[in-house]
Amino acid sequence: MSDSSEPVRTPVVLAEPPLERLIDARWTLGAAALLIVGGLAFGRLGPWEALLAVAFMALAAVVAPRRRRLVAAADGAAVAGLVSLETKAILSGLPEPVLVLDRRGLVLAFNEHAMAALGEIRAGEPVSFALRAPEVLDAVRAVSKSAEPQVVSYVERVPVERWREAHVAAGRVGSLGPSVIIVTLRDLTEQRRSERMRGDFVANASHELRTPLASLLGFIETLQGPARNDPDARERFLAIMRAQANRMARLIDDLLSLSRIELKAHVRPRALVDLSALARGVTDALGPLAKERGVELQLTVDPESVFVHGDRDELIRVAENLTENAIKYGQSGGRVDVAVRRGAGGGALLVVRDYGPGVAPEHLPRLTERFYRVDVAESRDKGGTGLGLALVKHIVQRHGGRLLIDSVPGQGASFTVALERAEDEPQDAAELPLKQAG
Ligand code: ADP
Repeated sequence: MSDSSEPVRTPVVLAEPPLERLIDARWTLGAAALLIVGGLAFGRLGPWEALLAVAFMALAAVVAPRRRRLVAAADGAAVAGLVSLETKAILSGLPEPVLVLDRRGLVLAFNEHAMAALGEIRAGEPVSFALRAPEVLDAVRAVSKSAEPQVVSYVERVPVERWREAHVAAGRVGSLGPSVIIVTLRDLTEQRRSERMRGDFVANASHELRTPLASLLGFIETLQGPARNDPDARERFLAIMRAQANRMARLIDDLLSLSRIELKAHVRPRALVDLSALARGVTDALGPLAKERGVELQLTVDPESVFVHGDRDELIRVAENLTENAIKYGQSGGRVDVAVRRGAGGGALLVVRDYGPGVAPEHLPRLTERFYRVDVAESRDKGGTGLGLALVKHIVQRHGGRLLIDSVPGQGASFTVALERAEDEPQDAAELPLKQAG
């Protein structure tokens, strides 16, 4: 940056406390004291003159302009020199951005995290050049006056919105070194984002529960009032009420499963699971639903059983949710294929493919979000909770796998779960009828 383009240098904080100035002038004051004692000893000074000389020296040390600091302020390297190498080593080991300022707000030292967070910072420059948040600059001013620590939060709008919290406290570098102001920054963006997501989630979940509840209450009132003596209406309404109550039960079930899986998210399940047998169990169980919807459900498994490490019940949930979705949403295609096969490089694949309307590309990245549906009315109509694919994604992630969704609108959708294949297949696997040598 050229000199002409540099902003006017106005330090944020002024004036150091008198005690600090006295400490800084300790050598000069000591020499003066020796002279005065000498003068007293040789009878050149009377006691009142000596006292006056001491008072004058102390006043001069407190009031005189601070030339050394002003020179240092103009020279970043000299200012940085006021902070010892040990202090700088400690700063570089801290996990958060930290800046050390002098009492006027000039930067004495900072660590790499501070540089990453604030961009260009230079020792010797006012902190306001690097950190523009007025809340933090006010806190620096307040701490320099009162030494009371301050905590302020602020938002950076550019280049991206970022929430930060600044802890501003007074401190001392070394036992007799300069008194300083330490600014520590904490990035609260992730915390704020997850708070917002939690808030949205609670709002969505309550809304989803309230809808069937309102309908149940409506029917109860009708049955107690106008339809009290109408047996036909009673039968019809009770059937609807049963469906609504079932939907609420499913929703609560899915919510509990999601939170259970989230709690265990960091633990990889290790049981040995036969993915081929699991897919066979799920397609057998969903056969009646497919038949009811006029869908032909086909299972293709690798001739050799495919084993993975995982949690059997959770993987059943994955296969069930994907197959049920394919039958429900891909019903018009009239056919659903479920396949288990070996993937490249030691992988195990579970693929569920339907030939229905598919999913438009703009919806694909959001399908696994909680409560996200392409068509809310259609999902509700089909008894959906909007949590099925979110559950699938969480389970697959916990298993260290990946969920891939492909779709050509009008031609159907395919959901692929890619897991790592287990190497150590169980002893009795050799006896399974489908297992072949090689
Ligand atoms: P839901 O309970 O609504 O089925 P999911 O999380 O299982 O919730 O699915 C989210 C949305 O993804 C569904 O509402 C539907 O719009 C869409 N979807 C899921 N599977 C398919 C599919 N096989 N074909 C078309 N759309 C699908």
